[in-house]
Amino acid sequence: MRYHGAMNAPNTSLPSLPDVSDLIQHPYRPPATFDAPQPGVFKASTVYFPTVADMRSRDWMDKSAYTYGLHGTPTSYILEERIAHLEGGRYSVLVPSGLAALSLASLALLSQGDHVLLPDNVYGPNKVFALGDLNRLGIAHDLYDPMDPQDLQQRLRPNTRLVWVEAPGSVTMEFPDLPALVRIAQAHGARVALDNTWGAGLAFAPFDLLGDGQCAVDLSAHALSKYPSGGGDVLMGAVTTRTPEMHRLIQLTHMRLGLGVGMNDVESVLRSLPSIGLRYAAQDQTARELAHWWQAQSACVQVLHPALAGAPGHAHWQALCGREGAGRAAGLFSIMLDERFTQAQVDAFVDGLQRFRIGYSWGGPVSLVVPYDLPAMRRQWPSHLRRGWLVRFSVGLESAAFLIDDLRQSMQAHLT
Ligand SMILES: *Cc1c(COP(=O)(O)O)cnc(C)c1O
Repeated sequence: MRYHGAMNAPNTSLPSLPDVSDLIQHPYRPPATFDAPQPGVFKASTVYFPTVADMRSRDWMDKSAYTYGLHGTPTSYILEERIAHLEGGRYSVLVPSGLAALSLASLALLSQGDHVLLPDNVYGPNKVFALGDLNRLGIAHDLYDPMDPQDLQQRLRPNTRLVWVEAPGSVTMEFPDLPALVRIAQAHGARVALDNTWGAGLAFAPFDLLGDGQCAVDLSAHALSKYPSGGGDVLMGAVTTRTPEMHRLIQLTHMRLGLGVGMNDVESVLRSLPSIGLRYAAQDQTARELAHWWQAQSACVQVLHPALAGAPGHAHWQALCGREGAGRAAGLFSIMLDERFTQAQVDAFVDGLQRFRIGYSWGGPVSLVVPYDLPAMRRQWPSHLRRGWLVRFSVGLESAAFLIDDLRQSMQAHLT
């Protein structure tokens, strides 16, 4: 019997609630034959089991069934398979951000007493994670010069279990000899983890670097927030692997950390993924036009874009990403503005841009600009970089002419 208020006060009793139990457990099931370009969005914490026996026998680890929302729904299984395919791996797990992909990989592969090596130009927050949490857990780290494989060789210790690689490096865009770094690390018995956000699975094949099946990273971490999302509106990451053993290590730590993703976000990435190749190529082409334009400006003393002849590591980019046609690169580059300018002038130039918006991240539709404080990011000024003020551009989907007009007007106003 339902409680309707004080029994002694009949005049104030509430109307009885309608019984909507049949609505909550409504039996209708739509026909199972629906098919459309986009997969359905299956959202769940709870997943039903028809019987106890079924509950006990289901296994989410091989994706043969569903047990709990954190372990995946049809929507996340589909995106994981597509990301694994994009990167040329066999398995992927989704995490709530690109940074979570980096920290998951380090936590899964490193234990107390281990040592990890990071390139000097590594994505900054990966270094911050090593300085903070890895350090606290008794895992030591060192930085190596990614442009000098001998430096990596010399910094390997008996307990070095993991080497991070990134191609090109963040912000300064040097392209390393990736196959050489991979070989040196693996010959030592260390695993190689690649931050593949720039390559996105499109510029080169992380699990077959030389195209002969002989050289592969052990895992690829990818900020899906960038090109796979393409909208500047989703945070997500993925860790992709090739061997069942490596996948299992990642999967177990992923499970223990409870790294779930929201299925509406997964849907957004699934919606954008079919156009990733077109977007990547278009943004690459526009970025190169802008990079060439900067090369002709006297305010700029160096353009840091690995596809440009003379850029740091250009030959390594050529060998890995330049084998077909004009080659492939992300729509991202940095410039070094002449040191004769003051910081205030450089800031005024950036503030004076109307079409480039000031903001982090890349891979979205709107072009972005960020001035970086290089001395705060590196142990010393890299010898291959000219002295000056570093400004990074992330190119969106606008036309090159539209963007160059903006660069020109602010340069003429502030960099004279
Ligand atoms: C953006 C980025 C990340 C982190 O991705 P988030 O989704 O922003 O956490 C990692 N590595 C590289 C190279 C990136 O550019």
